Amino acid sequence: MRLIFYSKLINMDMLEIQKIWSSVIDELKPQIPASSFEPWFLPLLPHSYEEEKFSVLTGQSFSIQILKKYNSLIEDALEKEIGKPTQFNIIYDEKLAQKQNKKLQKLLAKEENTEKLLKDPSTKYDNLKKMQSAPKLNLKYKFENFVVGDNNKFAYAASMSVAKTPGEKYNPLFIYGGAGLGKTHLMQAIGHYVLYKHPELKIKFVKTEEFVNDLISSIHKGMDKNSGMSAFRQKYRNIDVLLIDDIQFIEGKERTVTEIFNTFEALHNAGKQIVITSDREPKYIQNLPDRLRSRFEWGLMVDVQPPDLETRMAILCNLAKNDEISLPLDVIEFLAKRFSHNVRELEGAYNRVTAYVGVCNIELNVESVKQILKISETEKQITLDEILNTVASYYKLSPKDLKGQTRSQKLANARQIAIYICRELTNFSLNEIGDFFARRHPTIIYSYEKIKEDMQSNTSLQNSIKEITNKLKNE
Ligand code: ADP
Ligand code: MG
Repeated sequence: MRLIFYSKLINMDMLEIQKIWSSVIDELKPQIPASSFEPWFLPLLPHSYEEEKFSVLTGQSFSIQILKKYNSLIEDALEKEIGKPTQFNIIYDEKLAQKQNKKLQKLLAKEENTEKLLKDPSTKYDNLKKMQSAPKLNLKYKFENFVVGDNNKFAYAASMSVAKTPGEKYNPLFIYGGAGLGKTHLMQAIGHYVLYKHPELKIKFVKTEEFVNDLISSIHKGMDKNSGMSAFRQKYRNIDVLLIDDIQFIEGKERTVTEIFNTFEALHNAGKQIVITSDREPKYIQNLPDRLRSRFEWGLMVDVQPPDLETRMAILCNLAKNDEISLPLDVIEFLAKRFSHNVRELEGAYNRVTAYVGVCNIELNVESVKQILKISETEKQITLDEILNTVASYYKLSPKDLKGQTRSQKLANARQIAIYICRELTNFSLNEIGDFFARRHPTIIYSYEKIKEDMQSNTSLQNSIKEITNKLKNE
């Protein structure tokens, strides 16, 4: 049927073109992670089909580079639909860009954000004053600057929910996870949001060390009304939302524990919201008495995991967008691959690179980035063979079997892990990884997505991958 239809293609009308594109989109959807599919594929508009070339329009010049890596996948889907090898072509369209920008701006305008309110002269003076003096909340740490990925979507949703209805649903909210993964950011985002929505509420953000120091100095001051213990209690209990950062530093000292316990009880009983962050779950915090641990576990505990490659790339894109800097895709990919476990380090690298480029006015490309970050040319690039061998030896399998066609559960699983690591740690394209494992492109994507998903609920898998990665990096 396709062939008959094809004979008419010389002058294919727009309706047919749209039909083809919508089938192609249906075909591609299950093969591409939603985090890429939604922003990059859905906004494309079918444009024309001429001389075996199928063209679509984009309003985001950036998407041309992003979509390159999916080219063969798209062309396969086109061929399937049209029945003939077809070249895929993307055209940047200025008008569409303007239209989409307007749409975006409308959306942004709808999103209530603090800055807008601050600029709004009709905002009540009191609200303004409170927002501007919001103590120690970093203006950067808002929900709108937080990139959501599979690694943090539950923590994000829980934080959002707490921000919308403080003291009602999840109390306390306990956010835990490794360094530099956005815990403080989320916690402060709750603070900003509550301040904006309910300027009458009192918010306090405090680092655990600060709380402890404050407590010690208040104890020393004894009964002094303005700075002694009663002032301390007044300060921490006359609050609607208490944000305590890095509770792992509590160190179990009796007096501190008692004071935190009492503060917790006073606030919780009064229906006030408590949010706590920690680098580990309560049960792993040393010297934490049971009465406090069980209270930390009363509400909701959510973790944040290291972001996957796509989320890391999105974080960089977001930074670049805010700074109005255009970062080439290969630079984004290079940085995202190199700094994989800690967003703070990823941001640090981005800051060094952009600061340097700003001052020295040099061209931004992978080579210059390597120089700026002093990444030596001779630095070992991890090869696909090394990954294969390391994964094989970790699981006590033979590298040959790992690459072969055998489908035993153990082999298939280890193979998927190897593919995941290849994608995360090397700059090889999906096609190259596919060639290496003698597997098709969709299999590579499927394997990667599968491991990514499994990792979310499987801590032993997370640990294995961490161990293999460390081995590869340190060898
Ligand atoms: P943690 O408290 O978990 O150690 P932070 O909240 O201080 O980490 O985050 C470290 C840095 O990384 C901050 O600058 C933060 O804005 C940034 N960051 C972390 N996760 C994200 C994310 N998902 N989106 C945007 N920025 C992030
Ligand atoms: Mg922190």
